[in-house]
Amino acid sequence: MFVINGQKVWTSGAHYCDFGLGVFRTDLDVPKHRGISTIVVPMSTPGITVRPLRQINGKSHFNEVFFNDVRVPVDGLLGDLNDGWRVARTMMMNERLSVAAVFSVGNVMASLFALAHRTEREGAPASENPVIRQRLARAYTLARLFDLTTARVRTGLARDTIPGPEVSVLKLFAALVGTEFTETGMAVLGTAGGLWDDSAPEHGRWADALIESFAMHIAGGTDEIQRNIIGETVLGLPRDSNPERDIPFRDLQRGVATKIDRFTYT
Ligand SMILES: Cc1cc2nc3c(=O)[nH]c(=O)nc-3n(C[C@H](O)[C@H](O)[C@H](O)COP(=O)(O)OP(=O)(O)OC[C@H]3O[C@@H](n4cnc5c(N)ncnc54)[C@H](O)[C@@H]3O)c2cc1C
Repeated sequence: MFVINGQKVWTSGAHYCDFGLGVFRTDLDVPKHRGISTIVVPMSTPGITVRPLRQINGKSHFNEVFFNDVRVPVDGLLGDLNDGWRVARTMMMNERLSVAAVFSVGNVMASLFALAHRTEREGAPASENPVIRQRLARAYTLARLFDLTTARVRTGLARDTIPGPEVSVLKLFAALVGTEFTETGMAVLGTAGGLWDDSAPEHGRWADALIESFAMHIAGGTDEIQRNIIGETVLGLPRDSNPERDIPFRDLQRGVATKIDRFTYT
């Protein structure tokens, strides 16, 4: 039986889930990447509290999840005990792929062009404004490149390969394209783009999308982490220096929020 105590913030969709896949520290006496295990946790287990976070746009996509003496049978272990980092890396590659692959650039591009045609700027459709046309051309070029990168990753998957570091390129690209699209939409709308309720142009949809677009640069691993992965595993650059790499987790300096109070494994 595992007895889990701790807290996790940013857990997307936990308020809808029947099961959670958690990465838990199970050995404090080895360096931090070596002492963690991946465990499947039924979300109805006593001791779990899910608290949705309210975002700036009023939505609640993610949560704080609290574990208070949560007892989970050992057969919930995924992979080997203390080998959770390997499982987590595979999980994160798949997460990055799914985050990037759900992004339908074709649909967004079509709605951007339609928006530029129907929005009036200085007495003419915004699509005739030379600055807007440059932005649309840039967004379209990025969209095509993103499509081709996605096709390359899909081809690899169709050959049964496990998603590799190329997924980091896709994730980084998806965040970049998302921001480019939403900023272009705001540029088309001009100052009216910042309005944000049902009576606003386009019902405030582009302002909402702009705010949501920041999340993509963080969720599933930040842009900087994707760049580190690409630098190290694709370009073969020297590894990021990490003075904590060989220090047992117990001896690391930690804030109160990450302190492990208790871990029991029987
Ligand atoms: C919308 C959203 C949804 C999320 N959903 C989930 C979820 O469902 N499940 C889940 O487990 N997590 C989720 N997360 C958490 C997310 O995975 C983390 O926030 C993200 O990986 C960054 O980790 P961190 O917050 O600990 O930042 P930190 O690691 O503390 O990073 C802080 C800053 O330092 C930079 N940094 C850190 N290390 C390095 C380095 N080695 N080199 C260069 N720069 C560095 C980062 O890029 C960042 O800018 C979600 C986050 C968001 C925003």
